[in-house]
Amino acid sequence: MKKSYLLTPGPTPIPERVISRSIAPLPHHRTAAFETLFAEVRLHLKRLFKTEQEVLVIASTGTGVMEAAVANLFSAGEKVITVNGGKFGERWSKISSGYGLQVIEVRVENGHAVDLVQLDAVVQANRDAKAILFQASETSTGVMMPTREIAALARKYQMLSVCDAITACGVFELQMDAWEIDVLMTAGQKALMIPPGLALIAFSDRAWQAAESSKLPKFYFDLKREKKAHLKNQTAWTPAISLIIGLHEAMKMIEEEGLENAYKRHEILAQATRAGVQALGLEMLAQKSPSTAVTAVKVPSSLLNDGKKIPKIMREKFGVIITGGQDELEGKIFRLSHFGYCGPFDIVTALSALELALADLGYPVEHGKSVGAALQIFSKNQNCFS
Ligand SMILES: *Cc1c(COP(=O)(O)O)cnc(C)c1O
Repeated sequence: MKKSYLLTPGPTPIPERVISRSIAPLPHHRTAAFETLFAEVRLHLKRLFKTEQEVLVIASTGTGVMEAAVANLFSAGEKVITVNGGKFGERWSKISSGYGLQVIEVRVENGHAVDLVQLDAVVQANRDAKAILFQASETSTGVMMPTREIAALARKYQMLSVCDAITACGVFELQMDAWEIDVLMTAGQKALMIPPGLALIAFSDRAWQAAESSKLPKFYFDLKREKKAHLKNQTAWTPAISLIIGLHEAMKMIEEEGLENAYKRHEILAQATRAGVQALGLEMLAQKSPSTAVTAVKVPSSLLNDGKKIPKIMREKFGVIITGGQDELEGKIFRLSHFGYCGPFDIVTALSALELALADLGYPVEHGKSVGAALQIFSKNQNCFS
């Protein structure tokens, strides 16, 4: 028997409570029981997003609501600014150009957050742009972007801020209304601890105004129609009932812990992971602005020919599933995730498997070193166990 452990940035592990609720016989969605539950989910989500706006529950993955944001805000030929610091920033550019928008892309070096001075200059040179599209956490490089500052910059130039918070929402502090973020979105299989298939998106008043004049084609993802349905406590199409039931349970768990406590737990898990890999002499890809959700680690130069083997050995030999790098980062980094249904002992497990895998490949490892560094952090922050 090989026990397996999931430490990937989506899907993330699903709590037993969520699984057992989701496999119960399905209620029909036009019943009082489901409507009561959906009303509660809608309230939970407003607290999660820190917004008074309606958070729309859509049956799709995260990319679906990224596309929905573009299709509902703009018209063909309009200009948008995208922040491309990795795979997901690139996705903003691809969706936007796919819809016939004019894309001004701000390229950010892998492992770095966008430079606000540079972004300001691009914005000033493109005053006719309608929006800035960016990630709060760029999952492919393990970078945290300055969401609050980007939203403020967009506001200053009367542009919309469109934030992919898919590995940020529920992981670290984000305040949609107070920070004046115009569009915020996440997906269920990330910090919300449910299987893939549910995505969430909210628009500010300014974003809804933009939606009034948007002429891009849309039907399934027509968010105005979806909002009307939500205000009647329904969805425009058949909802993903079992996932919404799972989300109801997961949101209860998040609120039992307390959102602020969840942020603190994620922060300690991230600190311990970083301390662990550094204790092995490894370097992080994101030095200055690492994400609380995922730690991207550079493959040491002595193992560069075997870079892809680190996650492979961890998975195949030791049962610990992590992710490697994508595209030009393939074989150059590996990524350890530490959010959602994740506690200190998951980090201990992941670091143990990392030590074993590195040693297998001939990298000099003093066993216990990374685990020891992590345990020191956990022993000083014992509230992360509760
Ligand atoms: C996971 C993720 C997405 C969405 O990916 P899907 O596979 O469509 O759910 C988008 N942005 C970021 C930053 C992500 O981590």
